[in-house]
Amino acid sequence: MTQLRCPNCDANLSVHPSDAIITCEYCGSSFEPGGEKMKRHYAMKVNFGQGEAFDTLKAYLVKVPGVSNDLASIISFKDGYMTYYPYWVYNVKGVVSYVGRDRKATFRDKVKRRYSSIHWEWVDEAGREEQTRQIRLYAGPQVRREIQNYPIATRGRRYFNLKEAQKYTANIVFSRVPEEQARRQAIAKTRQMIMNRIQKETEQIDNIRESFTVTDHAYVHVPIYSMKFTAGGGKVYEAALDASNGRVLYSDIPRTTGFKLKAGFTTIFWFILAAVGAAIIFLFPSWLYAGIGLLVIALILGIMTLVLSFRQTAAESAR
Ligand SMILES: [Zn+2]
Repeated sequence: MTQLRCPNCDANLSVHPSDAIITCEYCGSSFEPGGEKMKRHYAMKVNFGQGEAFDTLKAYLVKVPGVSNDLASIISFKDGYMTYYPYWVYNVKGVVSYVGRDRKATFRDKVKRRYSSIHWEWVDEAGREEQTRQIRLYAGPQVRREIQNYPIATRGRRYFNLKEAQKYTANIVFSRVPEEQARRQAIAKTRQMIMNRIQKETEQIDNIRESFTVTDHAYVHVPIYSMKFTAGGGKVYEAALDASNGRVLYSDIPRTTGFKLKAGFTTIFWFILAAVGAAIIFLFPSWLYAGIGLLVIALILGIMTLVLSFRQTAAESAR
């Protein structure tokens, strides 16, 4: 930890040496160490209290296969807290003009509706690709992949409000990525997407002209609940929910023993059927294709049952 003074209110702050954007816990202003105050600091609004968020989690979990129908009566909240995670959001417009060559096939010597030879020749290609992309980058220290890769909603963002964060006694995570670096990353990502597109159409690129414009950028904190709960037994499950829109980022799945048994037997059933398919291939060569078909289908169904029934965590897709 290092010491630092807030350029706005002069308060003494202790921060991690790799923090790149600091938010003062007394006045709420954000700044780069030794740098200027940051004006484009936003946060998503907290629309779900902890109780509401837990209800949302319950409603989501009952729909997950293998979760008890009376989950609502056995689930029990253990503890939870809110964290503001930092993300950079950049809107980048990229324009790339290119000159290159592409191989084109020409078919020659058509004899009796068949070509006897194919000739390849290089053809000049030129074009222009324009794309506007919104790049969202997680900016904090390493956390669970569901939070790092979270495609945050960006509508409804408002200026960061320290009072709201304090009301929920939220922990505010600072960005480890300075603004300049985030900008470079966002442009590099946009460029990569455009180049991928161009490379699909042109085999060899000889010359490019490119320009990138950042049309909007923001430093956004997203309030996320981390929760622990039990489901009738002693086992503790974990989940995380977006406090702004109620989306479940991830949740451990409390499955009933009955479901696990049934899924186990179903998996075994498919694997036995796959073994029967394999036996047919070796013992009855005249039924080769039936054997292969049975083996492949039963194997796929067996693996699918295994994966779907025994995965540990679920995540809600976009709303
Ligand atoms: Zn301050």
